Amino acid sequence: MSIPTQIVIQRDRQKPIINQHPWIFSGAISQIKGDPQPGEIVTVVGEKGEFLARGYWNEKSQIQVRILTWHDEPIDDAWWHNALQNAVQRRVLNPKGGTRLINAENDFLPGLVVDHYAGFLVLQALTLGIDIQKDKLTDMLMNIVEPRGIFERSDVDVRNKEGLKLVTGVLHGEEPPELIAIEEGDRHFYVDVRNGHKTGFYLDQAENRALSVDYLDADSPRLLNLFSYTGGFGTWQSAYEGHVVNVDASHDALELAEKQIELNRETVHSNYTADYIQADVFDFLRDQVTENEQYDLIVCDPPKFAQNAGQIERAARGYKDLNLNSFKLVKPGGYLMTFSCSGGVSPDLFQKIVFGALADSGRQAQIVRHLTAAEDHPVALTFPEGAYLKGLLLRVY
Ligand code: SAH
Repeated sequence: MSIPTQIVIQRDRQKPIINQHPWIFSGAISQIKGDPQPGEIVTVVGEKGEFLARGYWNEKSQIQVRILTWHDEPIDDAWWHNALQNAVQRRVLNPKGGTRLINAENDFLPGLVVDHYAGFLVLQALTLGIDIQKDKLTDMLMNIVEPRGIFERSDVDVRNKEGLKLVTGVLHGEEPPELIAIEEGDRHFYVDVRNGHKTGFYLDQAENRALSVDYLDADSPRLLNLFSYTGGFGTWQSAYEGHVVNVDASHDALELAEKQIELNRETVHSNYTADYIQADVFDFLRDQVTENEQYDLIVCDPPKFAQNAGQIERAARGYKDLNLNSFKLVKPGGYLMTFSCSGGVSPDLFQKIVFGALADSGRQAQIVRHLTAAEDHPVALTFPEGAYLKGLLLRVY
């Protein structure tokens, strides 16, 4: 039998591991005892050989170990089964709805994302350590959740950093339909699990979409839905009177947004109208300011602007520009719901950027709520990177 591999950590780099941060970078490692194979389970020890953690190894990644446990326990089939079951049991699963079942590091399963859409699971294996366990995890999920099928959407760029190819396709069970219809509250959405963003849908915004309609105070309100994707926020408004301007760069997303209104036909308000505008939001906003347009509620939910620490400054300029022009377009007494999903932009920094935009706009505003991702996207307290989605609901004067 080969000697179990031990990864020895430098004395002054042990603190984050002891504090349960799940990532170990190459610079923290002083010695590798053994010859770990890619994805292999390794034991992490201090310089005197004392146990610190156990996780999976990938030399090709900057994050060479991702920790699975801080207890001295075997990572065997029973361990994986238990970890999956615990994550699933933490969720309230609506059989017709959409739910994130496994939220990677935040559910103590680094590299694994699993979403549920009305009977189908969509799995993302973001790391090599998860990729080599995929068949086993798929069988276990079939057993625990009993879905109609499991589809893989491992076509995310981070896999390149792990030395993995991008793959998609059926892993087990039935092939999902071209569009899966899901419920979100009393609203209905189409999810394109093959071509849609992420696993097909922005489940993280579910609670904020539902909340947004509480702020349509005006008679026949006008909503500006910036970065609308498949019309998430606007589709919620369709149960009410009013007009929604959906703006997105993606033609396909807007087409699905329009089609989705049909799916909600029974509940769409007779006085609901919508525009679906394919445009760059930055340019669109400038034109709207020139034309003195005004809205009762603006939702601004851009994609991730900062992929890493080096891009934060540029991202900040982007957020400032969007929020400055958005402030100018809110009717006095109206609302702005503004978001950032860049992991490197902390909630505090985001608030400062929005404050800067407000100051330049000459308007006044109050924070009505701080917004985060929905409840099925928990954040491990020891993993601040997990709190990627932050937002502010502002009343603007
Ligand atoms: N609010 C949406 C999710 C938004 S995701 C929901 O609740 O479902 C971000 C969207 O921004 C994507 O659909 C992407 O196509 C779009 N996008 C990215 N950059 C853009 C730009 N510069 N102008 C317009 N749309 C853009």
